[in-house]
Amino acid sequence: MDYLSKVLWTDDEIAFRQEVREFCDKEIAPIADEIDKGPYPRELIRKLGQVGYMGVLHDESAGGSKRGVSYEIIVAEEISAVNAGLDMARMASTTLYGMPVSKFGTAEQKKKYLEPIVRGEKIGCIGISEPNVGSDTAGMETRAEKDGDEWILNGEKRFITNGSQADFMCTFAITDPSVDAKDGMSAFILDTTSDGFSVIEDHELLGMKSARVSWLKMEDVRIPSDMLLGVPGQGFEILMDELDSERTAIAAEAIGYGRTPFEIAVKFANERVQFGRPIRAFEGVSFKISDMAVKLEAGRALTLTAARMLDSGQKATKQASIAKLFTTEAAIEITNNALQILGGSGYTTDYPVERFLRDARLMTIGGGTAEIMRFLIQREVYKEFFPR
Ligand SMILES: Cc1cc2nc3c(=O)[nH]c(=O)nc-3n(C[C@H](O)[C@H](O)[C@H](O)COP(=O)(O)OP(=O)(O)OC[C@H]3O[C@@H](n4cnc5c(N)ncnc54)[C@H](O)[C@@H]3O)c2cc1C
Repeated sequence: MDYLSKVLWTDDEIAFRQEVREFCDKEIAPIADEIDKGPYPRELIRKLGQVGYMGVLHDESAGGSKRGVSYEIIVAEEISAVNAGLDMARMASTTLYGMPVSKFGTAEQKKKYLEPIVRGEKIGCIGISEPNVGSDTAGMETRAEKDGDEWILNGEKRFITNGSQADFMCTFAITDPSVDAKDGMSAFILDTTSDGFSVIEDHELLGMKSARVSWLKMEDVRIPSDMLLGVPGQGFEILMDELDSERTAIAAEAIGYGRTPFEIAVKFANERVQFGRPIRAFEGVSFKISDMAVKLEAGRALTLTAARMLDSGQKATKQASIAKLFTTEAAIEITNNALQILGGSGYTTDYPVERFLRDARLMTIGGGTAEIMRFLIQREVYKEFFPR
């Protein structure tokens, strides 16, 4: 198994994966189907905090272990291999919300708004997308106006993972509409108990049913000026900053969604007999198994490359985008082919393959669509060929 290979992983990473896997087997696997009715129990997030899986990217001063992205991709793959929606919720809290606070927050902000996230006691979310704003984040419509020592926020955020469950949101808003959004956007921490903050609805989703994804409204929400992240106008930079590590971790999640259906299909094809032979004897089945194995191992290698680059302080926009694009498209193909190998059984809920297929379908959309990944990759290629 390449995820145990000492050529790719350090002894400590291999031991850590084993530890995370044992935790998942004990704490998540027995309830993995049950929590798909959602939402995930908060208690589970608390347990993830207690064992340190909310803090591998964060500084020790915020209660984290700062082990790095290579450890984050292990956590993301292992939890996703059991229940994808739970890891989506974990990641929305500790990475999507947590990284902007970790990298741009003051010591006081980290103490108050990051430490409880790392401990799993509070839940975070990130508010970027809006009813009229998806891929084109610079078109953001939410506004924040300064009023004395406060900011007043108005706008709507849609498709927000953890939205209705979150205690804190890292939200983005235009603070200077007279300039381009790249200079006129700012980032804020918002306490969801603030007056004027409301949940319009939780979206009904195809998959990821253990998570909650919500449509939120901010109507004259007043927040103290010390809840601004960084400086006014730094929002777009903050937004772009966390995307490479987020996309690398999403790539690892996608490997998790593919891995379990792959393992189920391998065993099923070995046992299911038709025409007097196990179905793995037919190339129509066994070549699908080969293709799945190739995509899982190639995807894991691409993801680890991006993680190693980020951990060594290099910019990894191209590698993170390649890893996300490859693994998320592979996850859809793998889960679909696994279902095909299981025949009618695959279409039932007797096996979790249908759940992973529904979950996997999200990932060429969330965190930047496949089309946007292709756009970014070619842009990086042209930068390499024609440096300015
Ligand atoms: C379950 C779920 C969870 C989510 N969680 C969060 C969250 O926690 N926080 C958050 O802020 N957002 C979240 N999102 C939103 C997600 O990031 C957006 O859905 C995504 O960025 C795409 O935006 P859109 O849906 O508005 O599609 P659009 O941007 O409107 O795109 C529609 C289609 O047009 C294509 N397209 C757009 N522009 C181009 C282009 N330039 N070239 C080629 N094709 C293009 C897209 O690829 C897509 O196929 C979540 C979404 C879902 C479904």
